[in-house]
Amino acid sequence: MSLSNKVAVITGAASGIGKDIARAFIAQGAKVAIADLNIEAANATAREFDPTGQLAMGVGMNVMDEAQVDTGIDLVASKFGGIDILISNAGIQIVNPIEAFSFADWKKLLAIHLDGAFLTTRASLKHMYKQGRGGSIIYMGSVHSKLASVLKAPYVTAKHGLEGLARVVAKEGAKHGVRSNVICPGFVRTPLVDKQIPEQAKELGMSEEDVIKKVMLKDTVDGEFTTVDDVARTAVFLAGFPTNALTGQSIVVSHGWFMQ
Ligand code: NAD
Repeated sequence: MSLSNKVAVITGAASGIGKDIARAFIAQGAKVAIADLNIEAANATAREFDPTGQLAMGVGMNVMDEAQVDTGIDLVASKFGGIDILISNAGIQIVNPIEAFSFADWKKLLAIHLDGAFLTTRASLKHMYKQGRGGSIIYMGSVHSKLASVLKAPYVTAKHGLEGLARVVAKEGAKHGVRSNVICPGFVRTPLVDKQIPEQAKELGMSEEDVIKKVMLKDTVDGEFTTVDDVARTAVFLAGFPTNALTGQSIVVSHGWFMQ
């Protein structure tokens, strides 16, 4: 098992991509903190994956809240014996053309994706540096870290921003053996995407089927959605990679939607 005895914090892990990464990490021997705004769902996920309470714990955490992040990460470190891996994954989507985007929605989206990534990184690095056993930080980017789409101004801005943060963490963390990378998935059928399909259909004046075929999957090589399992396998690979050879990178997992 490639993650034996590693301690991982995964934000937004009560649903979708984060939840499947938690499942895969536990299968690889890691102890996992399921950190989520929705504490009931976080606790239920922890119990679902590990009824014994030894390998998984739920943590209520709003990643935009400095005190909640600092307290939550410290709690995980004291219960599980440190922090080895952070998956900064919590996120939302709001679609609107720029001229109709409220400033409040713009700020909320940037705060969840960027403030959340910064705060969880800072809190985790403190433990990783002190422990002296290295670490791996993985940001959940998107093909929208590389490309733009209409209706998604703050999301595209935030996902591009994560690449900058990951590169700085790679440079600062290197001497401590802390690596930092970004996973950039294409569209994955999670609640986040299921909510967007009717919203985009309305904004673009298309059927939901056309939004899937002609917008979401149009540029993939095979018209397929990326799966939570595809993303979780990539996270296992990056989290278990043993040296600084693979740091400051982004890996696109998107059925060829974006090729670099
Ligand atoms: P999801 O809606 O299934 O899950 C998101 C989770 O984040 C939920 O459990 C939610 O409670 C939690 N969350 C939301 N706001 C939070 C906050 N402030 N603090 C803590 N937790 C919070 O979404 P998903 O599709 O699994 O998305 C996960 C990540 O993957 C996001 O960053 C998203 O941008 C990214 N992503 C998703 C896709 C996709 O197609 N689904 C593609 C590329 C990237």
